[in-house]
Amino acid sequence: MPTSNRPDLLLPAEPGQRALARELYALVERLPIISPHGHVDPALLAEDQPFGDPAQLLIVPDHYLTRMLLSQGVAPGELGVPSRDGSPVETDGRRIWRRFAEHWHLFRGTPSRLWLEQTFTEVFAVDTRLSPQTADEMYDALAARLAEPDFRPRALFERFNIEVLATTESPLDDLGRHAKLAADGWGGPGGRVVTTFRPDNVVDLEFEDWSANVDRLGEITGEDTGTYAGYLAALRSRREAFIAAGATSSDHGHRTARTLDLGADAAALFDRARRGRAEPGDTEAFGAHMLLEFARMSLDDGLVMQLHPGAVRNHNRWLYARHGRDVGGDVPQVTEYVHALTPLLDAYGNDPRLRVVLYTLDEDTFTRELAPLAGGYAALLLGAPWWFLDSPEVLRRFRETVTETAGFYNTAGFVDDTRAFCSIPVRHDVARRVDAGFLARLVAEHRLPMDEAAETIVDLAYRLPKRVFKFGASA
Ligand SMILES: [Zn+2]
Repeated sequence: MPTSNRPDLLLPAEPGQRALARELYALVERLPIISPHGHVDPALLAEDQPFGDPAQLLIVPDHYLTRMLLSQGVAPGELGVPSRDGSPVETDGRRIWRRFAEHWHLFRGTPSRLWLEQTFTEVFAVDTRLSPQTADEMYDALAARLAEPDFRPRALFERFNIEVLATTESPLDDLGRHAKLAADGWGGPGGRVVTTFRPDNVVDLEFEDWSANVDRLGEITGEDTGTYAGYLAALRSRREAFIAAGATSSDHGHRTARTLDLGADAAALFDRARRGRAEPGDTEAFGAHMLLEFARMSLDDGLVMQLHPGAVRNHNRWLYARHGRDVGGDVPQVTEYVHALTPLLDAYGNDPRLRVVLYTLDEDTFTRELAPLAGGYAALLLGAPWWFLDSPEVLRRFRETVTETAGFYNTAGFVDDTRAFCSIPVRHDVARRVDAGFLARLVAEHRLPMDEAAETIVDLAYRLPKRVFKFGASA
């Protein structure tokens, strides 16, 4: 999606490199979007209903925004974030929007500002600069756009030129929305909207209602999840259902990257946990062991494994108590991969049939651990900078810190990882611009001929993620 208002956005400031970067960016500017990892609600596209008001669309669900205001003392309830206990929160979109506009200066220099501004101008064609004074004018302009048929989710999906979008569901999801999408010609294997198998709520022993979730997993699959063997069979069965709904990957959000083969002890640990008698260390050991089990399942069914470690979930306990999870209360921590992944790599690291995409929230690991690992094991690929790191500065540093050891072709392409549907084209555009700048420098320094830089940028934006995540015939 071209950014007409600021054509040189994020391109190098040095004129020679800028000219090269413009040429490279022009090659990928309009390429289709491959979005292999994200959290868009599939109901949005299954039902294709008009979006709510501008605040409900752009502010309330965006925890990047609400956490920044929280850090300045604005309670999430004042921005419409639902409460856990049903106690009242602000529901008036215009008031939420005004409150947000009053605090817009907090976002100077942040990627949130960039994404939101580009969303206003490129998606909604609203060029007004947001401020407390223009809040109402912008709210009305955005609301008017959202009432137009061209701003229904499926129409936007077409306009955004998304070739494939992966959503993320738990094994307990009935995949009904994906069935609806498939019935409408939008989903299913090879479809435009596919699911991703994310089993955290039946793997993480400390997940709320873990045991009840495992019961439910048994009911859905007809397997006896009272036993460890039944539990594994149930997971395999759900993976089959997800694959039938188009899934090509699984996603694992663990505290650490630790892997472990518990062998016969796994069943005993599972039994303990099911009886409510988990011991200290069981949660981490079981999660670590299950990564090996999932790798074995992947060898059979071909799902690409995505590993997202390093988030301390619900670090802000006050926020969690009032508003629940995924509302901005998580914080990154130091993450170790070299020793943590050894059991997995000893077992399957050199098996090219396995494909594990590693992400990090710990930027220090790019040069020291992740690039050498991805650059040395057939099963490993390096995922794009994610979440706290999905900014222009880190995307740039990512190329600078990993390319010399891992090259471009051990990376997996950009992932937007977003819940914010309208920000998808903007986020992919930012990644393409940063890559154009990085490759332009290699060309300017005579380290890479222009024709190879041109091929590389198209690979990074389109061909590589498509191949890594097994979308389409080239899988
Ligand atoms: Zn994610």
